[in-house]
Amino acid sequence: FDLFRSRFPADRSRPFAETEPGTNNARTVTYGDLEALTGRYANLLADLGLKKGDRVAVQVEKSVENIILYLATVRAGGVFLPLNPAYTKAEVEYFLTDAEPHVFVARPESADALREVADKAKVAHLLTLGTHGEGTLPEQAAGKGTDFATVPAEPDDLAAILYTSGTTGRSKGAMMSHRNLGSNALTLHKYWGFQPDDVLLHALPIFHTHGLFVATNCVLLNGSSMLFLPKFDAEQVMGLLPRATVMMGVPTFYTRLLAHPGLTREATAHMRLFVSGSAPLLADTHKEFSARTGHAILERYGMTETGMLTSNPLDGDRIPGTVGFPLPEVSVRVVDPETGASLGTDAIGIIEVAGPNVFSGYWRMPEKTKQEIKPDGFFITGDVGKVDGRGYVHIVGRAKDLIISGGFNVYPKEVETVIDGIDGVVESAVVGVPHPDFGEAVTAVVLRKPGSATPDEAAVIAVCKEQLANFKVPKRVFFMDELPRNAMGKVQKNLLRDAHKDLFT
Ligand code: ATP
Ligand code: MG
Repeated sequence: FDLFRSRFPADRSRPFAETEPGTNNARTVTYGDLEALTGRYANLLADLGLKKGDRVAVQVEKSVENIILYLATVRAGGVFLPLNPAYTKAEVEYFLTDAEPHVFVARPESADALREVADKAKVAHLLTLGTHGEGTLPEQAAGKGTDFATVPAEPDDLAAILYTSGTTGRSKGAMMSHRNLGSNALTLHKYWGFQPDDVLLHALPIFHTHGLFVATNCVLLNGSSMLFLPKFDAEQVMGLLPRATVMMGVPTFYTRLLAHPGLTREATAHMRLFVSGSAPLLADTHKEFSARTGHAILERYGMTETGMLTSNPLDGDRIPGTVGFPLPEVSVRVVDPETGASLGTDAIGIIEVAGPNVFSGYWRMPEKTKQEIKPDGFFITGDVGKVDGRGYVHIVGRAKDLIISGGFNVYPKEVETVIDGIDGVVESAVVGVPHPDFGEAVTAVVLRKPGSATPDEAAVIAVCKEQLANFKVPKRVFFMDELPRNAMGKVQKNLLRDAHKDLFT
């Protein structure tokens, strides 16, 4: 916190966040407010008996108070643990019993229902926080003083436990230290050329590393302001682009903006930078966005466990379909999954990373930590990719999504790229489903342009046969109106696999 505070503007009346600008809920929180309110909240946490290393679990809607709680928790020496508001009672029970937080902050409307699970997890204090700054947390903090001496933190002390998105299985709690968060924030702030007058358009959720750390920490280090929206709404975002200079988004933000007729060069003339991450940005989306606005979206790659790892350059070619170069201080290598040997240019393998940004392990999962972090400090990302001759990293997919059909490896991305190239196709997802002869059978789910009934299954298969070896060609093709995605815009391939698991058996 003191690193951020050292960067706050000298004039503390400068805005930190404008919530829902242009609506009845519009409100400005200044850097002075931020300093005072994190002090009040930190005093409250300390008075509630929060000790160094104690967890503060939070399942609330997006609000500036939620950010204040994050900062107050680290000021008070605690460990911030945000949870997706969409999690059910049963899921919250898992997270609380796993993390054993000292304090749990819930939405006012769900506090009663969650009291039982909080008691089971031996939570000492259950507080509430609503969307517009109401609830027992702000009420009790209001009576506290604004001065608070930040509890000193060593670089290895934990600042947060962030649960992964659960795309490939049960979410894991990644233990993030002050060094992890601080180093990544400083690196990104510099790499993306933040300037004093930048204004960030913030429409991401803040229970995830993208919205909480990547976006918010850059703003805090910059001492500048953000336009803070409860969620992404294309109409609202279009209206605010003339006031913003930087937007960070997931790929679905960009496809939704492209669907808006108002997206033009003029509409984005005030913007300096559009950043995309958390899921693969289709090369077509990148190109279409460039054509419409003149802005080349800057795609970067990262994970909960490591913060950001690679980024396309601020100055220089932002190449569609790549995630750019390893960030300063981040080492990236591509290894053979069987032998662990480093591979050369253009060879596809497992991506491993090391650096001050890489987490110290999974919360209460020492075995899993040992499996995923090698003795030389490299973390096995589980992502499959390659580094090209110019040093750009390409993500091909996830190791868990790799299909083995008849003993041959099929990378879904390769098949998806062919299908996406067919006229009338918007996007596709290729998965392996159990098959008695082949082990797994390549199966494609395809999204066609709205209102289009072509291509049909036979046509998709015919094009794949022309361009791909036989073992890569989908055995079956299904059509959907929308691919299942989670809150971060990630395609949930496990749901697709489940839906078709009995296809061949
Ligand atoms: P879980 O680990 O629980 O299965 P998850 O991996 O989706 O879920 P996150 O930490 O939110 O959880 O996401 C990190 C993953 O997101 C990366 O490992 C990578 O697969 C994917 N990802 C992030 N940015 C990009 C990108 N620019 N292009 C492609 N994939 C990306
Ligand atoms: Mg993961």
